[in-house]
Amino acid sequence: MAIKYIPEPFRIKSVEPLKILSKEERIQKIKEAKYNLFLLKGEDCYIDLLTDSGTNAMSQDQWAGVMRGDEAYAGASSYYKLIEAGKDIFNYDYIQPVHQGRAGEKVLFPLLLGAGKLAISNMFFDTTRAHVELTGARCIDCVVEAAKDPARRIPFKGNMDVERLERLIGEHGAENIGMIVMTITNNSAGGQPVSMKNMRDVAAIAKKHHILLNIDAARYAENAYFVQRDEAEYKNKSIKDIIREMFSYADTFTMSAKKDAIVNMGGLIGVKDASSPLIIKTKANCICYEGFFTYGGLSGRDLEAMAIGLYEGIDNDYLRYRIGQIEYLAARLDDAGIGYQSPAGGHGIFVDAAAMFPQIPYTEYPGQVLAVELYKEAGIRSCDIGSYMLGNDPDTGKQLHADFEFTRLAIPRRVYTQAHTDVMADALVEIKKRASQIRRGYRITWEPPILRHFQAHLEPIC
Ligand SMILES: *Cc1c(COP(=O)(O)O)cnc(C)c1O
Repeated sequence: MAIKYIPEPFRIKSVEPLKILSKEERIQKIKEAKYNLFLLKGEDCYIDLLTDSGTNAMSQDQWAGVMRGDEAYAGASSYYKLIEAGKDIFNYDYIQPVHQGRAGEKVLFPLLLGAGKLAISNMFFDTTRAHVELTGARCIDCVVEAAKDPARRIPFKGNMDVERLERLIGEHGAENIGMIVMTITNNSAGGQPVSMKNMRDVAAIAKKHHILLNIDAARYAENAYFVQRDEAEYKNKSIKDIIREMFSYADTFTMSAKKDAIVNMGGLIGVKDASSPLIIKTKANCICYEGFFTYGGLSGRDLEAMAIGLYEGIDNDYLRYRIGQIEYLAARLDDAGIGYQSPAGGHGIFVDAAAMFPQIPYTEYPGQVLAVELYKEAGIRSCDIGSYMLGNDPDTGKQLHADFEFTRLAIPRRVYTQAHTDVMADALVEIKKRASQIRRGYRITWEPPILRHFQAHLEPIC
């Protein structure tokens, strides 16, 4: 194997013991959970890779910040510390804390969208899509074609297809497009990054047509690391300078701080220009939905931890280790001939379950099959990002066929070690060895009308 594990730039000071169930116990637990990983108890999972959102380990400085948190209702010192950090890193005039990313969407999107409007993105994350649709508007995904081929190894597979974007604006009319959203990194395409060049091109189009450009910024720091590593003219630029340039091309951002700000709860809205009429409206919506605009649905201690985490998340040594851990796992899968959305993206590995189980049709959910096998094999909790998650056509009730059948192993930040990473790889290698013997997938025995994957009950087809 060509890639060496990048040693952790930290050591362990506080320990969270893990329970390891026997294989027989795991088989029983997943059966009791109706073969839905979301219905397992967290304590029954040895390695929990359900998401990298809010599952991060905070540092000693952040925990010290928790004690220093100022709980004043209005104008807490922790609020000022947070907005100073936000202004410094993003170079935006207005920074609004909210309790998580979707809260930012709920506050900002109704100000820009409504019935008859469209929003175009490189790819919408599921809650982002939901908040666009809740305003009455509709979404169009416009990612580059290369993103749809997991085996195609080119950088910046998260990019917007700019030619198609121009065509879409021409077809629908710029006046009907409420905003363009650049999701960095592109979560739904497998944590794939967006290049600075692509951001510049999209910004020029948005400007030409007077369309607002919003960044969905959950993994902005990981994205900046990829720009520094893979885009020649940024090799010698600092992560912070790259972030400032990237954000200079947009007008607003919404951000889940549960990812790259390395906290367990939090989010931000940013408005670049102090004279924007959006600021006063953002404050008003925030007061209605989240709380007074100097706390935005968070405790003072959360604001303090986020202010510190924002800086820890853009540290070059940390990012090198973070992306290195994912690449190490990817290299182990390469050695075993296991396909995944490649090259490895920012926050996890999206294993190509359709390639592992070619005998299992999308109607029997290959991504879910692999997720259940990973739990049985090693107590690893992952999730399906495929037809099982996508659900049924709302008009016909027929199962939709997703572009991919992925099983996502999302890696929490600063949580698992190299030995844990080897457990992940070893489990996938073992499953691959017996993959052809798994003939059938799952059927759904009960499902709720929307976002079914969180709650549905399944059973194996025999
Ligand atoms: C997580 C995420 C969100 C939503 O954020 P929450 O904090 O989970 O509400 C929005 N967009 C992207 C790209 C995300 O990854």
